[in-house]
Amino acid sequence: MLSSLLSSAQLAPPLEEAAGEALAGELAATAGWRPYPRSLAAVAGALFFIGRRGREKRLCVLWPAGLEPALAGDFHGERTQAAVGGLPIVIQAGPLDHANASGLRVHLQFTAPRLVGTRAAFGAGDRLGLATPAHVQALRGLGLAAIFAQQSVREMSRTGRTPEQVLDSATFGVLEQGWREGYGADADHLKTIEDADATAAAGFTMFTVDPGDHVDGVPGGESAARAKFEALPWGELETTSEDMRRAYVGRTFRLPGDLQIGFDDSTLVAAAVKYGRALAHTAAMYRHLAGVMGRRPFELEMSVDETDSPTTAAEHLFVARELRRLGVRWVSLAPRFVGRFEKGVDYLGDLGEFERCFAEHVAVARRLGPYKISIHSGSDKFSIYPIAARLAGGLVHLKTAGTSYLEALRAVARAAPALFREVLDFAIARYPEDRASYHVSADPGEVPTPESLADDELPGVLDHFHARQVLHVTFGSVVGAEDAGRPRLRDRLLETLADNEEAHYEAVAKHIERHARPFAEGREGLSPEEGDGDDR
Ligand code: ZN
Repeated sequence: MLSSLLSSAQLAPPLEEAAGEALAGELAATAGWRPYPRSLAAVAGALFFIGRRGREKRLCVLWPAGLEPALAGDFHGERTQAAVGGLPIVIQAGPLDHANASGLRVHLQFTAPRLVGTRAAFGAGDRLGLATPAHVQALRGLGLAAIFAQQSVREMSRTGRTPEQVLDSATFGVLEQGWREGYGADADHLKTIEDADATAAAGFTMFTVDPGDHVDGVPGGESAARAKFEALPWGELETTSEDMRRAYVGRTFRLPGDLQIGFDDSTLVAAAVKYGRALAHTAAMYRHLAGVMGRRPFELEMSVDETDSPTTAAEHLFVARELRRLGVRWVSLAPRFVGRFEKGVDYLGDLGEFERCFAEHVAVARRLGPYKISIHSGSDKFSIYPIAARLAGGLVHLKTAGTSYLEALRAVARAAPALFREVLDFAIARYPEDRASYHVSADPGEVPTPESLADDELPGVLDHFHARQVLHVTFGSVVGAEDAGRPRLRDRLLETLADNEEAHYEAVAKHIERHARPFAEGREGLSPEEGDGDDR
């Protein structure tokens, strides 16, 4: 089997499960690195796999002795000679680093990020850099577009990770689990040109522009709002206040589902004052990205989810029409929804109101796109998934991140109670400061203290509203770059998770699958033709 794999010039199809296990067993016996069976991938005279020994992992590249393939030059590692089934081979085992990840993305293209377009998408952020294999296990067979690299600039700075590291972890995770369906890489919550440059250079394919700092949530009374309207950056908006009034005031826009949105002067002024500067910023970011990316294709999302007041249907329609007028192309848009999307816990608000508003956002997205409605802070919002999945009919993108970190902590609570107690104690102490930039309402006084719990009660802490939020927003202090002057929690967490890898993957995969399944079931209804397009 090995020689036939090694004679394949094109990417060989994935091995059947039993064949993969058998070959992995043979290689483990001779090569010293036990392959993850699904990672075995042959192309151009070489066989690749992720190999494991103890808590170490390596990217292994193997070829017949004396027949070094040209691609070997794009990888580095330690070479050893062995024989498998009578065939003399060379195995090169190298670190899971940026150089080897870059080589993989060239030679095994399924490990490189790509565009996902308007397919229903699931964003699985991974703050520790270990969770992609679990995310693959969760999403396999569900038919959703997967975004395995997804990190906001804020998360990267808090965890001390670079855009390259985020992408590299996804690349290795995808290979480890043999995910060949492609995945997207979402540079989330980009606020500045510098954010865009850094993530574009690293190879991200999707850019979520967050113009939230330019959203004016308090237009004031009628006359104050009119003054602000006249003072908008009309040059950047490439229009005038008169022309904009002509385009909206007195008009009614008809949307799918018998919805109508009418504009009078105050509706327009309120929408334009709130989002006008954000539009100008988004258009500038989009044009900058288009210049930086050159011939590399990319996709854009605009997100205003982290702003104070909910986005109305009229405001959404205004934003989408104006972005289009400014020549921006995008695949998804994240409004600020009604209700509260707090970190790590279920939706807080009236589900009926959410349903009505979500339906309006979808109607706007169908009429002016179609593009996807993106749900940020999507972790643990179990009560809204069936509603969103049904109404969006595939035009939806759910983003999660912190919940995978919390499930990793659940695995730690089971495997290393003393370490988990330390994390919980530290998180409670850090919460008052770390909560600042997050939507949370936890009271740290309500979190059970580590001393009050028996070891077997520790995993249950992860089901506790207040504890989840406290643990969720303190990730940067726990795993960040700052050294708290003692054996670093980060290193010990990563070691514990490596030593208990299967339990970690299982905890994360089970939880993420619960998030994704409702969207896999709701995906059938997609019919892009429904966007009637007469407004383009
Ligand atoms: Zn967000």
